[in-house]
Amino acid sequence: MEEEVATAIGTPNIALVKYWGRRDSALNLPTNSSISMTMDETLCTKTSVAFSKNLPEDIFYLNGEIQDFRHGTEKTMKVKRALDEMRKFAGIRAKAMIVSKNFFPTGGGIASSASGGATLTFALSKALGLNLKAKELSIVARQVSGSASRSVLGGIVKWNRGKKRDGSDSYAEQVFDKSYWPDLIDIVCMISGEKKKVSSSEGHDLAPTSILYKARIPYAEKAVERAITAIRQRDLNALAEIVMRDSNNMHATMLDSWPPIIYMTDLGKEIMAKIHELNAAEGEMVAGYTHDAGPNTQIITIKSNRNKVMSALKEVKGIKDIITVNQGDGPRLLSARDSLITPDLVPKG
Ligand code: ADP
Repeated sequence: MEEEVATAIGTPNIALVKYWGRRDSALNLPTNSSISMTMDETLCTKTSVAFSKNLPEDIFYLNGEIQDFRHGTEKTMKVKRALDEMRKFAGIRAKAMIVSKNFFPTGGGIASSASGGATLTFALSKALGLNLKAKELSIVARQVSGSASRSVLGGIVKWNRGKKRDGSDSYAEQVFDKSYWPDLIDIVCMISGEKKKVSSSEGHDLAPTSILYKARIPYAEKAVERAITAIRQRDLNALAEIVMRDSNNMHATMLDSWPPIIYMTDLGKEIMAKIHELNAAEGEMVAGYTHDAGPNTQIITIKSNRNKVMSALKEVKGIKDIITVNQGDGPRLLSARDSLITPDLVPKG
C-alpha cells in the first residue's frame, strides 16, 4: 500500500483536575473544564494510518487485534467517526487501515484512550496532508475520547468545557509549555494492568446519578483556575493539595453513583496514606497522589522530591512497577521505517 500514509507517536496525560461527567455523550462534551500534564514518551502510543483505494473497507488493529467497526465498543465506533470526519475534511473517500499499539496497559486507567485518540487524530491529519491547527485537532480527538482532546498538546493543558451544543468551543489549549516548570514530574505506580470492569464511558454516563456530582461541577471549574495559579507560581504545596482533593472528590462522586463505581484499590488507598504521612513529616506538601478512572496511582511532585517519594513507596508492598515521567510535547511524526503496517496485515486481492 502507498498513497496517504503516516506514523505518529503520542502520549497519555495525567489530569490534575479531572473530567468526569458529560453534557453530550456522542460528542464527549464535559460538564466541567479540566487540566492535565502531557507525559513524555516513556509511556506512548504509536499509530500508523494508510488510505488506499484498494482497501474494500476500513480496518483497525489495536495491539495486534482487529477491532470491529460495525458492532464494536463505544470508543471503537468513535474512532470510526473521527476517521469519517477527517475524510470529509480532506474530501476523499478512500478507505483506511489503522494500526495502533500502546506501550503501556490499555483500558487500565493510564489514559490509553487519550494517548490513542490524540495520536490517531494527529496521524490522520498528517497522512491526509491537512494542516490542522491544535484547536481543530483537539476537537476531533475529543470525539474519540474526551481526555484525548488534551493529549494533542504538550506541557500543561486546559480543556475548556465550552457551552455550545455543537462542541465548537470545547477544545484544549496549552497553558504552559513544558519548559515553564520542567521540574514537575509524574511518578506512575502500576498496580494492575488489567482492563477495568466499568469503562470510562459507562462511568461518565452514571455521574448524574450521584448526589455529589452537582457540587463537583462548580468545584472542579474553580479548581482548574486554582491549579493554573499554583503552576504559574511553581507552588507545589498548593498544587499537590488541589490534585489530591480533586482526585478524591471524583472518586467520592463515583462511589456515590448508582450503581456505585469503585476504581480505587486497597493498594491505592495505602499509597494515599503514605503520601499523607510523608507530607505531614515534611511539614508541607512535597507530593500529591491522583487516581484516574482505574486502579493505578500517580504521584505529582518535583524532581528534587523524587527520592523521598520513592522511599515512601518502598514501604508499600505489591506495586508492580514505578515509572517516572516528565512533561512531553504532544504527538509527532515518525519515519516510514517505524510503520506498524506490515504486509501480513494488508488484505489480499
Ligand atoms: P483508559 O484508562 O486506558 O483510557 P478506557 O476504558 O477509558 O481506558 O479506554 C480504553 C479504550 O480506548 C480501548 O478499549 C479502545 O477502545 C480505546 N483505545 C485505547 N488505545 C487506543 C489506541 N491506541 N487507538 C485508538 N483507540 C484506543
